Amino acid sequence: MVEIYKNIYLVEIPLKGNPLKSLNCFIIKSNEQNLIVDTGFNTKESKDLLMGALKKLNIDLNKTLLFLTHLHSDHTGLASFLEENKVKVYISKIDGKLLNSSLDKDGVYWAGVVKGAVLQGLEKDNLNLEEHPGYKYRPSKKLKYISAEEGDSFNIGEYNFKVINLQGHTPGLMGLYEENHKILFCGDHILGEITPNITYWGEGYGDSLGKYMESLDKVYNMDVLHLFSSHRLLVKNHRERIAEIKKHHEKRLHEASNVLLKYGSSTVRTVTKNLHWDIRSKDWNDFPNSQKWFAAGEAQAHLERLRELGEVKSELINGIIYYRLI
Ligand SMILES: [Zn+2]
Repeated sequence: MVEIYKNIYLVEIPLKGNPLKSLNCFIIKSNEQNLIVDTGFNTKESKDLLMGALKKLNIDLNKTLLFLTHLHSDHTGLASFLEENKVKVYISKIDGKLLNSSLDKDGVYWAGVVKGAVLQGLEKDNLNLEEHPGYKYRPSKKLKYISAEEGDSFNIGEYNFKVINLQGHTPGLMGLYEENHKILFCGDHILGEITPNITYWGEGYGDSLGKYMESLDKVYNMDVLHLFSSHRLLVKNHRERIAEIKKHHEKRLHEASNVLLKYGSSTVRTVTKNLHWDIRSKDWNDFPNSQKWFAAGEAQAHLERLRELGEVKSELINGIIYYRLI
């Protein structure tokens, strides 16, 4: 545990078997009230680590709030455990609802994931829900949570953190901004060495990449001196990093459009197979099944962006979506 700013502590919680390696959990301490930002997976190891850090800092859980930047299990794993220990939990309404609905293995959330895979043309890959990491590590207990909305604020000692909407990586990702100290806790919105995964969330959620790009512009225009991201190193220059991430997606959009140019009307599966991936696989058959869900989601987010930009059309043929250039 390191004090990265006055009364703000960083605890690195390992994420076993995950390429993200670890989660940056932040603890902000004051005499009246404390705040934890994100938790790590629901494992004994993370629980011991987090509880050890809280104990070392003499944190009274009765006077502590937990802010969850978004629904992913590496951020929310220990939320129900902390809630049972009198910690008040905050998450956006939309991510909170998605998170709670993902508990039920026969519920609408997973039915939507399976339906989405059929529309993407992934049926022939014989994907099994049990191999989906989000399914495998889904939380075990519903959260009561309090909905956090843009503009809400948390007063922790000398800090006044304002909730800001940074949707894109998930439909309800929220950050915390401290105007006087120019601190931004941004969750997975901007990461140092990794490009945050942007996926297609289904019909009701629209153009997630477009929304993500808007949220990048929002942070670009903000005065940020200390960007506290959820994984790996802390980003030094937020504008430089945002420019790099935007360039990556522009390149990716171009790549997706070139696949459509080459193959004509294509399923998400065909486009995904023909994009370049930073993964050690010979070809699509060799691609780990757990990663096929994510790759297809990312490819579709780019296709939906192209559709929103008026460059691509989609149509449903025999229960599968086909995209083609206009
Ligand atoms: Zn995430």
